[in-house]
Amino acid sequence: MKYVPVAAYDNYVTAHLAKGRLEAESIQCWLMDENTVTIMPIWSQALGGIKLMVPDVQAPRAQEILASLEQAHKSHHACSQCGSHNTEEISTPRKISNWISAISTFLLGNYAIPVKKVRRCFDCGHETPL
Ligand SMILES: [Zn+2]
Repeated sequence: MKYVPVAAYDNYVTAHLAKGRLEAESIQCWLMDENTVTIMPIWSQALGGIKLMVPDVQAPRAQEILASLEQAHKSHHACSQCGSHNTEEISTPRKISNWISAISTFLLGNYAIPVKKVRRCFDCGHETPL
């Protein structure tokens, strides 16, 4: 059976939530590069994150489920400024503090300094710290 990636995640928690959702719909799936990304988060970008792999014949159905999951998630996170649901959770890599935390995390080998995440509204540009 041939497996194809249907989604990619930068942490194992969201990856497992999506995997569990697909398994509940009887879709066989597994996570590629989970251990590497979890142990060395700094490699996540290079590897393309944790890939959710499904059989190619089940990929359209899996994408449908993931899209509705995303939609449900978005509708729970309206912009506090304008009320739009057109928002997304993003990390802010352009800020110097994130580079410092990425380097310290790499050097210290722990997760003591988290990367800053915000919820950005694509309609008004407002950013809500998470
Ligand atoms: Zn907004």
